[in-house]
Amino acid sequence: MAGDAAHTNPPYLGQGACSGVRDAANLTWKFDLVLRGLTDTSLLDTYESERRPHAQQNMLDSRSLGVVANTSNPVKAAVRDLLFKFHLTPKPKFPVLADGVLARAVDGKPMRQAGSLAPQGRITVDGRTMRFDEHVGFNFALVTNAEVADELPADLRAALQAVGVRFVELAPPSGVSQGDHVLDVDGVYAPFLKSLDADVVLMRPDFVVYGHADRAGLSHLAESLLQQLQYTSTRAQHPAISVLCP
Ligand SMILES: Cc1cc2nc3c(=O)[nH]c(=O)nc-3n(C[C@H](O)[C@H](O)[C@H](O)COP(=O)(O)OP(=O)(O)OC[C@H]3O[C@@H](n4cnc5c(N)ncnc54)[C@H](O)[C@@H]3O)c2cc1C
Repeated sequence: MAGDAAHTNPPYLGQGACSGVRDAANLTWKFDLVLRGLTDTSLLDTYESERRPHAQQNMLDSRSLGVVANTSNPVKAAVRDLLFKFHLTPKPKFPVLADGVLARAVDGKPMRQAGSLAPQGRITVDGRTMRFDEHVGFNFALVTNAEVADELPADLRAALQAVGVRFVELAPPSGVSQGDHVLDVDGVYAPFLKSLDADVVLMRPDFVVYGHADRAGLSHLAESLLQQLQYTSTRAQHPAISVLCP
């Protein structure tokens, strides 16, 4: 079940259709990998553990906002209106995925920023400027500082490519964009890596952050993804289904 059939939101936070789109984005990359014979069907079980708490939190936040919007108490309404007037209203914290296909810290919990949404900025590739998601499509994306990805062992690189990982190497600010060496036009991705104290960040096809690592931890990060997907190169592989994986 997905969309309003699974969770009907009050409209106050504007998250009803958005939650449905997130459900669909979450399901499609998993179906794609399973139907291509690249991963175990148990991957589909992560749909509920990832989406249910996230959608539920959005519903609760939406309901709370409805209580604020619909108050019939004139004093509370006056205070609310003043807070809005002076831009003093707190923003609800946007929920992140707390379980599922996410890189783990040593305590087994998702690592910092795993489960949150990756930023979206413009990049230049081969002289053409576009949004990041236009370039990577509905695929995993391994965003690295220049030349870090070259350090991946060949077999690991091949396995990542088999599950559809796109390699996006950030060219130095004064560099030239070529192939997968891209220019970070809006200055979004280099600062994002810096904020994580990382050389590489791995995003899922639904643009949820899987995890991040420094140069030394790159192979471990890649291996952990393949392990969580239960990827094995010996599985029978079927061509991509065009409806699910355009
Ligand atoms: C006032 C209001 C404001 C909103 N504002 C926002 C907003 O700002 N941002 C936001 O993200 N969301 C907003 N939403 C919510 C958003 O409109 C819904 O969450 C979204 O449309 C749900 O999409 P859906 O595809 O899951 O379900 P639906 O849009 O309900 O689609 C289900 C479809 O299935 C069809 N159907 C039903 N039964 C059958 C059957 N047996 N066989 C075949 N077809 C069937 C229906 O006819 C329908 O076309 C708002 C909703 C309201 C009411």
